[in-house]
Amino acid sequence: MAFELSEEEKAIKKSVREFARKEFAPLVPQIEEENEFPPVVWEKLKELRIMGLLFEEEYGGVGSTFTSFIVAVEEIGQVCPPIANLPMEGIMTALALRRFGTDEQKKKYMIPLVKGEKRACWAFTEPSTGSDPRAFETRAVLDGDEYVFNGTKRFITGVFSADLVTLFAKTKGDRAGAFVAETDRAGFTPGRRERLMGMRGLATGDLILEDFRVPRENVLGKDDEGFKVLLEIEAESRIRSAALSLGMAQAALDEAVAYSKQRHQRGHPISEFLTIQWQLAEMAMKVEAARYLVYTCAYQRDQGKRIRKDSAIAKLFCSTTAREVASISLQVHGCYGYTKEFNIERIYRDVKLNEVAGGNADIQRVIIANELLR
Ligand SMILES: Cc1cc2nc3c(=O)[nH]c(=O)nc-3n(C[C@H](O)[C@H](O)[C@H](O)COP(=O)(O)OP(=O)(O)OC[C@H]3O[C@@H](n4cnc5c(N)ncnc54)[C@H](O)[C@@H]3O)c2cc1C
Repeated sequence: MAFELSEEEKAIKKSVREFARKEFAPLVPQIEEENEFPPVVWEKLKELRIMGLLFEEEYGGVGSTFTSFIVAVEEIGQVCPPIANLPMEGIMTALALRRFGTDEQKKKYMIPLVKGEKRACWAFTEPSTGSDPRAFETRAVLDGDEYVFNGTKRFITGVFSADLVTLFAKTKGDRAGAFVAETDRAGFTPGRRERLMGMRGLATGDLILEDFRVPRENVLGKDDEGFKVLLEIEAESRIRSAALSLGMAQAALDEAVAYSKQRHQRGHPISEFLTIQWQLAEMAMKVEAARYLVYTCAYQRDQGKRIRKDSAIAKLFCSTTAREVASISLQVHGCYGYTKEFNIERIYRDVKLNEVAGGNADIQRVIIANELLR
């Protein structure tokens, strides 16, 4: 299937590209050094309106396509992957609200998220499970008009700064519900922050729920439809993750091309060596294949097609490809690629995340096989 960006999508690509290079690139050294986002990052994301790109104007959004959003993720991902990641849990929450929320929930929670006035985290993973959705232990017990939550969530990105949480908990035996709630209610306590390998700035940590009370009307859909919410929104999020991997792979390729022209050996730039040219060609082939998968899948999503299999294929291929391309690029840099003087050292650490998080690579294989065999 062929795809071409629309004129609007091309314009968004150009403006996000320029914005990211002008506004975000200078912040990268500071974020790397301090492992925190300066507050100006969120303000700039708001200015860019990335949180609203794919949502309709009636919800405070820009009213563009899913593909536009994916274009923006790729472009920011080329410059600073953790910044591209920063608004994601809020966007996933807004997607869940748009699909499963009541009018009241949309008004109260979705619109502030789409406008970037509020931030959200997405709390599914627990200490004992990330891959097996049925193995988690947090429970929500109905008490009058409120659900009472008890349990511990782990690896919850943005838990320290979120205003809202999308929370998954068992409600009826092994069946789960999905809920949206304010984080300033009693019983919501962020715990230990993980020390991550890459993606500096991203704050991911535990969430401890102790008699955390949430009104009954905060359930998304029905109180035993949590897995449906999870599977549908995660499928959309996989395209976003694939686009981020694509951005990082493109950046790794660009770094290798630039370095190979500037580094001289035996009186020649190393770009003149056939072995280096083969590495560049290998990287370009992988990046273009990844791009094709990402944008074909985004286009299908815009057409309202089922994307469960294709988004898993895109995420699996792009995360693996980004890791491979980053490794080749570092090799092209030689020893200098192993130092913090060059961007490839950071990219090499950042790319690994998408192979292990948001559904492990093996879990993508399980999804693809299940879809083939169903
Ligand atoms: C930086 C970061 C941010 C994150 N942010 C969030 C967040 O905001 N919200 C959230 O809920 N979670 C988040 N996560 C959690 C992440 O999505 C999970 O860690 C991930 O889904 C994998 O779960 P796990 O680590 O428990 O792996 P496990 O399930 O323990 O898997 C371990 C290994 O076993 C394999 N395996 C497991 N089950 C199967 C199977 N059925 N078939 C074949 N192989 C299998 C896996 O592929 C993997 O290799 C984040 C993680 C990180 C690192």
